[in-house]
Amino acid sequence: MANYYDDNEDLRFYVERSIDWERLVELTEYKYRAADGFTNASEAVDFYRSILEMVGDFSANQIATLAQEIDRQHPRLENGRVEFPPVLEDIFERIRQLELHGMCLPRELGGVNCPFVVFMLSMELLARAEVSVAAHVGFHGGMALVMLILSILEGTTEFDTDSARIKSTRFGEAIGEIISGKAWGSMDITEPGAGSDMAALRTRGEQDAEGNWYVTGQKIFITSGHAKYHFVIARTEKPAGDDAFAGLKGLSLFLVPTRTGDGRGERVPQVRFDALEEKLGHHGSATVAASFDRAPAHLIGRRGDGFKLMLLLMNSARVGVGFESLGICEAAWRMAKAYAAERGSMGKTIDRHEMIADYLDEMRTDIQGIRAVCVDSACHEETAHKLDILLNLIPPETEAERRGSQAEIERHRRASRRLTPLVKYLAAEKAVEMSRRCVQIHGGYGYSIEYGAEKLLRDAMVLPIYEGTSQIQALMAMKDNLTGILKRPGAFLRAAAGANVRRWFGNSRRHRRVAGLQTKVNATLRFLLTRLAIKKLSETRTFSIRRWMRLSGQWDPKKDFALALLHAERLTRMLADVAVCETLLAQAERFPERGEVLDRYLERAEPRCRFLRSEITGTGKRLLDLLATAESDEQSTSR
Ligand SMILES: Cc1cc2nc3c(=O)[nH]c(=O)nc-3n(C[C@H](O)[C@H](O)[C@H](O)COP(=O)(O)OP(=O)(O)OC[C@H]3O[C@@H](n4cnc5c(N)ncnc54)[C@H](O)[C@@H]3O)c2cc1C
Repeated sequence: MANYYDDNEDLRFYVERSIDWERLVELTEYKYRAADGFTNASEAVDFYRSILEMVGDFSANQIATLAQEIDRQHPRLENGRVEFPPVLEDIFERIRQLELHGMCLPRELGGVNCPFVVFMLSMELLARAEVSVAAHVGFHGGMALVMLILSILEGTTEFDTDSARIKSTRFGEAIGEIISGKAWGSMDITEPGAGSDMAALRTRGEQDAEGNWYVTGQKIFITSGHAKYHFVIARTEKPAGDDAFAGLKGLSLFLVPTRTGDGRGERVPQVRFDALEEKLGHHGSATVAASFDRAPAHLIGRRGDGFKLMLLLMNSARVGVGFESLGICEAAWRMAKAYAAERGSMGKTIDRHEMIADYLDEMRTDIQGIRAVCVDSACHEETAHKLDILLNLIPPETEAERRGSQAEIERHRRASRRLTPLVKYLAAEKAVEMSRRCVQIHGGYGYSIEYGAEKLLRDAMVLPIYEGTSQIQALMAMKDNLTGILKRPGAFLRAAAGANVRRWFGNSRRHRRVAGLQTKVNATLRFLLTRLAIKKLSETRTFSIRRWMRLSGQWDPKKDFALALLHAERLTRMLADVAVCETLLAQAERFPERGEVLDRYLERAEPRCRFLRSEITGTGKRLLDLLATAESDEQSTSR
């Protein structure tokens, strides 16, 4: 019988050999203090493997077989309620029975207590079968996890250190209901006039004289926006200042229940479901427009911290989209490969024709590269969160231990922050590219609905849009890199010099090639900074790093980075290639047989980075001049 876990050797490599289970299991099992927990990593990994085999079986035999039906039968909005077709109700029931929503929540809250990375690998398996079903599982399990993390961070979770069990948590009831599949949660950010531009959000959070909070406003495109528990971002403070980003500071995060009690045993609706979006794909998931009119709300964390809290949580969600995308890539590659091996043309099967063979080879290599950075970023994200949680729940015995933990958290957080936008960008863009190729390889049959290739493409199209568009990921990656250099130019110079030395004297050809890519990206970053500094000071000569240092503290990425903003996506593609190659190189050092994957990836990444670099260094001036002229014309007209 088909099993999406068993048939995927590259994915199993991570579970069987690569992931540092010793550390992750120790953190997941509260340092092995719980009486009902595992006592060592190998026991735990046997259990995780059995979960993945179960999800692999469920995905292949009970979801993939229904994918076309799910696609054809949309949810409907009837009398203000979202109704799912029987095929989806049936799948949701099976998901409940398999306890997938609670996969990475603690046992004492009714969960299965698997690490986040196991949950993420499950997302990939489910997404290979049907991405909207994967999003459903990932979203609700993720919401329950978010509730727990928020409660721990704001200090409203009680933990018994002797038995290593959570005694109570602020959102315990909601978490229990979501885990058991009785209720769902949603994350309500987007509004009609504000998607990527969160500073423009207008939904208001207001407090009455007794201190009760109420939320008023309209949200759109909300996944499971008919859920019982809404996490809503609303404005509680007026924007301080008139720059385009000032509004980010006045946002707060609220929990808004869809219904509240009226004190006489009746439930009163507090959220109105205005519309159910009709979408290109992703038909197993309800995307809802909802409005709030003085809906009773509970503030989470501190007033004004909404944007910060949301960023913290979005990181995990973006890693999740990376794994969903990976599932689509895997499905597209396998469907295309199987078809190409059977379809004959001009005397041979099309997989023997050079161009198609090249497509398939590149798809396979990209999937392996993307999986490497997806797993890496999930592990960093998980380790940072779990160390932070343990620091809150089981305070260290010595100051040295506390400092050690904090340094480790910082290290993992930095790595996660660096990788997440690259993972979200690369995986989502590749999911679209690979499903498009899958359609192309199927020729006319790809454009018809017969094989399901067109469904993959329609489903993939949302991945570069939700949880922050590809362009927003590129902006984040670019700004983090450039401002990081401006804050610590010495560290950048040392790293760049190290890469340059390794490029010539690295201890293997692979080290030298990866260092060559790093050098190319460093030179590109330096080029961008030099151009930006020249523009900022209206000087025409070349800049040295010492002079950037003198400019330190005077940079405003929102105003000064025009050339870098223009090339952010190209730069992100280069940064993603470097991140993939570094991860594959580290693997090849531990497992020599993985060197072959790195070689294949490098073969394509090297010329690509050369091309991207020449685009960045050679184009853009004409367009920037045009934009500057348009802006000054606009200003003089408005005067
Ligand atoms: C199926 C689906 C499910 C969703 N689920 C949720 C959910 O659960 N909760 C939620 O809150 N939202 C959800 N969304 C909304 C989604 O997050 C937004 O659509 C997304 O953030 C983009 O916002 P927008 O649609 O307003 O596009 P805009 O922000 O208007 O962007 C339009 C285009 O302009 C680009 N752009 C914008 N600003 C810049 C810039 N500064 N530089 C360069 N390019 C820029 C964007 O990248 C994009 O290509 C969902 C959307 C879909 C389609």
